Amino acid sequence: MLMNPSYVDIAGGVGRVVMSLMSAKPGLSIDTLAIHGGQHHEPITGAVMPPIVLSTTFAQDGPGNHKGFDYGRSGNPTRNALEACIASLEGGKHGLAYSSGCGAMTNILHLLRPGDHVVCGDDVYGGTFRIFDKVMKPMGIEATFVDMTDVSRVEKAMRANTKMVWMETPSNPMLKVFDIAAVAELAKKQGVPLVVDNTFATPVLQRPLDLGATIVVHSTTKYLNGHSDAVGGAIVTRDDALGERLRFLQNAMGAVPSPFDCYLVLRGLKTLPVRMRQHVASARTLAAKLVGHPQVERVHYPGLESHPGYAVAQKQMSAPGGMISFDLRGSLDQSRAFLKALRIFACAESLGGVESLAEHPAIMTHASVPPENRKALGIVDGLIRLSVGLEAEADLWADLEAGFHAAKAV
Ligand SMILES: *Cc1c(COP(=O)(O)O)cnc(C)c1O
Repeated sequence: MLMNPSYVDIAGGVGRVVMSLMSAKPGLSIDTLAIHGGQHHEPITGAVMPPIVLSTTFAQDGPGNHKGFDYGRSGNPTRNALEACIASLEGGKHGLAYSSGCGAMTNILHLLRPGDHVVCGDDVYGGTFRIFDKVMKPMGIEATFVDMTDVSRVEKAMRANTKMVWMETPSNPMLKVFDIAAVAELAKKQGVPLVVDNTFATPVLQRPLDLGATIVVHSTTKYLNGHSDAVGGAIVTRDDALGERLRFLQNAMGAVPSPFDCYLVLRGLKTLPVRMRQHVASARTLAAKLVGHPQVERVHYPGLESHPGYAVAQKQMSAPGGMISFDLRGSLDQSRAFLKALRIFACAESLGGVESLAEHPAIMTHASVPPENRKALGIVDGLIRLSVGLEAEADLWADLEAGFHAAKAV
């Protein structure tokens, strides 16, 4: 019998635990919250790590008289701990976990109605573009994609029926940086929520709610879990009405994560701040070396002073992140040779894990973006995207050098 006071404590007490941690010490660091947010010792056994509760149903003392849980889709103690932890990291009030980042995004878009319009950043994750283009559009919800580096374009794209603004910063794969506070101001003027996809930055480097965003969305598959072994998503907001509606949609639409995956992400989160420091340190080093390489045309990294988004990144991020993209001089064949020669960087989609990855956006992650859009965005045949992992910097650079060598031989 799983039901005992300890689980009630973990779950029912989650909000209170986070609140008590945060209110006891208002300035509690994100390093501490990553380990303790939403979690405390299980009182019966003293288990320090949150138990994985697999039970799909929970016994009730009498009909309708339960201890905060009735059915596994509607609520689960392990999931509650994860949701409270992510909410604490983003400085939010309501946290919701999903079976994938796409599941989380689909829930947010179901806040809308047919006839509504969304203003969206132009350089979004390929799957995000696909949801807008192939799922929401046929249901009568239209989106306009704009380059938000010029905020006036956001204002110009607003219509009477614009009901949401959506941005991803830094963007994928061009690492464009959009001014969250400035766009939040415009969304507020229109009286609509601003959604920020914070997957690339993580709350360690950027906290959109503090900058005026209404909703933060994550693919926890990436940095938050950090070990490339669980697909998941999350939403955080401070708005009670939106939080309640999203909680309803989470249960009604059912894209919930398994308790085991929740445990994996909780476990990954504990080292998130430490991992991010090393991702950033290595990415800074590699970006600087790439800038000086004769076979590199351009490097896209918000930590470089030459990056167009450098000033905004300085303003709204504590560090520029672990993602780099660059234009390799030459043709598609040279890009293929480069990627094939790598031994430490795996040629693979996804990002944010402890292991380094390299990929070709035009062929891989952004194949669902129409060719003309890709060209306009700068997703050219020579564009390579790196997710800089936690291996030794020197080994990573040697691996990239082997790639350049192979590209030159083509
Ligand atoms: C991966 C990703 C998503 C989608 O998340 P899934 O977990 O793959 O469904 C959304 N946004 C960004 C920025 C991503 O990198």
